[in-house]
Amino acid sequence: MTTIELSNPACRVVISPERGGRVVSFVSTGSGVEHVGPEHLQIWLKTGTIRDPAAGVLHLFYGDFRTREFEMDQTDSPRSVRLRAESEGVSFQKRVRLDGAKPVVTLELEAVNNSDRPRVVQVECFFHWSFGPTTTRRNVHTLIQRGGASTLYPLPPYGTMDCSSFDIDGGTLALCDTDQDETLRIVPDANWQRFAIYQMSGCWRGPYSPEKSLAPGETFRATLQLVLSPGCEAVGQPAVAAVYDRRSHRDSQRRSQTAATARFGYPTFPIRVIDLNASRTGTPVDSLKWLLEHVIAPAGYTHVQLECSVRLRSHPELAGEASYLPGEIRELTKFARSLGMEIIAIQNFYGHQSAITRAHPDLQEVPGDPGVYCPTNPKTRRLVAEIIREMVEIFEPRQFHIGHDEIQLAGNPQRVGVCPRCRQRRPWEVFAYDVNEIHAVLKAAGVRTWMWSDMLIRPEYLSKWQGNGNGVAGEVYRALDLIPRDIVIADWHYFAVEDYRSSQGFLDRGFEVCPAVWYSKEGIREYAKYAHSIGLKSMMMTTWANADLSSLPVESVLYAGRVFQDVAAGNDPDLDEQVRLAAHDLWGEWTKRVKP
Ligand SMILES: [Zn+2]
Repeated sequence: MTTIELSNPACRVVISPERGGRVVSFVSTGSGVEHVGPEHLQIWLKTGTIRDPAAGVLHLFYGDFRTREFEMDQTDSPRSVRLRAESEGVSFQKRVRLDGAKPVVTLELEAVNNSDRPRVVQVECFFHWSFGPTTTRRNVHTLIQRGGASTLYPLPPYGTMDCSSFDIDGGTLALCDTDQDETLRIVPDANWQRFAIYQMSGCWRGPYSPEKSLAPGETFRATLQLVLSPGCEAVGQPAVAAVYDRRSHRDSQRRSQTAATARFGYPTFPIRVIDLNASRTGTPVDSLKWLLEHVIAPAGYTHVQLECSVRLRSHPELAGEASYLPGEIRELTKFARSLGMEIIAIQNFYGHQSAITRAHPDLQEVPGDPGVYCPTNPKTRRLVAEIIREMVEIFEPRQFHIGHDEIQLAGNPQRVGVCPRCRQRRPWEVFAYDVNEIHAVLKAAGVRTWMWSDMLIRPEYLSKWQGNGNGVAGEVYRALDLIPRDIVIADWHYFAVEDYRSSQGFLDRGFEVCPAVWYSKEGIREYAKYAHSIGLKSMMMTTWANADLSSLPVESVLYAGRVFQDVAAGNDPDLDEQVRLAAHDLWGEWTKRVKP
């Protein structure tokens, strides 16, 4: 991979044009501390009109400047480089400039509307900050500094997800590494609006520029500086006493009554599913077993939808280092059963299956884009059937989730039925064809099909939030009338501001519906109430984080487990505190038993 390195006596910064022009390393010469890597600091441009319900900013998926390759436009000097990309009539330029002597990197950003209509744009930073519970740099404190005062943003030691917004108002963000006694400051100019600390399994988003409507030919500019300084004076002494530390001193009697260990009588939802993302490298079998035994089963889940890659005899080309061995999966499914839980096999098909389309580029629906395969290619059909048959042999599941989410994204170009062969049919027929072919293979094996809902939600249910209306382009949602009614629709709505009526819509058409929630406790509570009110019998918690306690949004996992068992628990004002205590205890146990 080609990278560009800029350096001065105080620091070194590395940029990757191939990875969306992101900063992949920022090292202080004096301390040797890597402030950005091993992950990255990305600044991208979003376009569109759909907002993220939690952060209130333009939706993350908008525009494709995130992963696109940037051209190196010009190297101004050994300490400065310009990168440029253009997409759908908007050009985005980043100039990265290093100070001659000081550890200061200046990022000058410029968006130009080259199209003939107004375009809404927003610049967003996305940090895989190398600190917090998922990394070894645990003693890095996040502070918002404004007008001489510092506000500490506390992080629990275990994984969590959260979103908090702060207007910038002349402020800066300081990341103080108290172990290394060095601070990284993020200094925005007046063209930025807010820091929204949107924490998700090690990646944080923000600061954000305001949304700008650019007229044709109009330009938006903003500048952000990354500044290193010795010391951690931003950390005021009282501020370091993080909220989560004091919770460890509660008496053990109260802890024993926490959500993780509580058992209930007749549950509101008899089927309580958790979707876990596991990989052999990130979650070894023993860690996963510990998690199932000490967190998932006690939290009241009955089904585990295990998202992982498995090394298949029939298709070794799809496997990687992270793939589990068939024997490991058999050990896990047996262990889950011994705890009274059932494993739901899951394999994403059509979209989110880049292992297939990278190993077999000839199956890409749009050449060069590994995101989507071509369902009408006969080779796809053979390959998919072989994968399913072998997975069924390994998992011995009663239920198999076939994914089918986000094949195209609301507001982005259509991806269903666009290749010359697929264009012979209507987009919704192409989508239904893929589902029906897979369903037939599973049915022959006596296995029930589950799938995600977002490609099938009708426009009338998208009045409050359009973000999961992924089947609107090409009217793909019409496939709902062409697929078997014994499919379980996992209808995901993650935030309380969303419209849940799509679940009633699926129910009315004869499908079984399993509502799916994410980390938002308000979203969990509200959707569970709705699901109960329309008589649904199952709920699913999704996590979208590595299945270990340092990444998993563990408070939300416990919270959902409790609400799924007893929907009225969502009204209990103590539930938040109970799950926090339980999460803290579990973290203590996990660090003792699993962490080296
Ligand atoms: Zn095709």
